[in-house]
Amino acid sequence: MPGKQYDVAVIGAGIIGLSTAMHLLEKHPDLKVAIIEKDGHEATQQSGHNSGVIHSGIYYKPGSLKAAFCVEGRASMTRFCEENEIPVWTCGKLIMATKPAELPRLDALLERGNDNQVDGLKIVDPEEIKDIEPHVKAIRALWAPKTGIVDYRKVAAAYADRVRTMGGDIHFNSELKKVSRRGGVTALETSSGEYEAKNVINCAGLHSDLVAEMMGADPGVRIIPFRGEYYTLRKDREDLVKGLIYPVPDPAFPFLGVHLTQTMKGWVEAGPNAVLATKREGYRKRDFSPVDLFRTVTFPGFWKMSVREWKTGLWEMNRSFRKGVFLKSLQQLVPELVSKDLATGGSGVRAQAVTRDGKLLDDFAIKQVEGAVHVLNAPSPGATSSLVIGKHIAGLAGDGFSLN
Ligand SMILES: Cc1cc2nc3c(=O)[nH]c(=O)nc-3n(C[C@H](O)[C@H](O)[C@H](O)COP(=O)(O)OP(=O)(O)OC[C@H]3O[C@@H](n4cnc5c(N)ncnc54)[C@H](O)[C@@H]3O)c2cc1C
Repeated sequence: MPGKQYDVAVIGAGIIGLSTAMHLLEKHPDLKVAIIEKDGHEATQQSGHNSGVIHSGIYYKPGSLKAAFCVEGRASMTRFCEENEIPVWTCGKLIMATKPAELPRLDALLERGNDNQVDGLKIVDPEEIKDIEPHVKAIRALWAPKTGIVDYRKVAAAYADRVRTMGGDIHFNSELKKVSRRGGVTALETSSGEYEAKNVINCAGLHSDLVAEMMGADPGVRIIPFRGEYYTLRKDREDLVKGLIYPVPDPAFPFLGVHLTQTMKGWVEAGPNAVLATKREGYRKRDFSPVDLFRTVTFPGFWKMSVREWKTGLWEMNRSFRKGVFLKSLQQLVPELVSKDLATGGSGVRAQAVTRDGKLLDDFAIKQVEGAVHVLNAPSPGATSSLVIGKHIAGLAGDGFSLN
């Protein structure tokens, strides 16, 4: 028996899928839109396990989607939170050069941030640094006063409310298992039954390559999961961190390096590192999936990446297993920290798209094919940029699915 019918089905109730559905309904109020989500509520994966930073757009290559979407994304996210009474704290961020060798990279970051038209950036000297973060040690730093923090689970819940208010359906506990085309519609077989949709938007995060393949598209990349582990600061030591304390990132690597962050969840976090996960949703070290690992190691791009990045990989594993090594990274930012200040915290898993020639895709990757849009790489600052990404995809869908 044919299932419930929709004009557009969005796979995944993460922050990107929800924002996409919300923008589709805002633009086309009569559209029948469904979100198909395998878990029991929204934001259970990356969107609910991140650092909670509203990035300002400093790091990203001018002209990239990240640069354009993040700068606009920060402004729209802050506005959305104000309108929906979601607490935001614009605490500002210090990116700290702790050795002379990092100074040219700090200057390059300032230049990049200015090219991206990030407001209010300035280089600060040790005296000014002490006024902002009294417990850090740096020779110079880049101050980004517009960077803030939010709880993205609250943002995702507000997006979900808006989707429902505008008439969209969200089907939880509905894992997409099989896709087939019949009579001009796509039949979506899920763990909770079948749905039919004229068009599909794949926002499946850690599973986006699998969903694309299920739909007969060649994603051209494979999602390699990288776990990011956090420690939390002991309550009586939280005053060591006033806002957001970051290192100067390694330009060869798409991750930002372990940082110290105030959060809206009520504690201070230290992390995340970046270790290869042996399961797509491998939040714990012991999580292991033979199927997921097989897919990782049979992908030629994985081996090309490993040959190039083996030193970084081993270093990250060492830091993951030895608290003392993790602590040393943090002490470069805040020397007063000692081992007993750190308690094991949560973790997140990044959906990192890797190309067949072993490159870690840096920019957002959104691929449009007939009757479908696939979001194949939406790493940080994906949450910050989610309103702009959702609007962009709704625009692509308007043209590609002839909704206009
Ligand atoms: C450790 C970490 C720290 C980060 N820090 C920040 C930050 O501070 N600021 C920032 O802006 N960004 C940050 N990010 C990035 C941000 O979290 C992501 O860009 C964003 O959450 C991506 O959202 P998404 O909807 O694409 O993916 P997800 O949130 O992963 O959602 C995908 C959804 O698809 C569902 N799904 C998958 N397969 C299926 C299927 N077969 N059937 C049905 N449903 C399916 C999943 O269950 C999931 O709910 C961080 C990410 C990580 C991992």
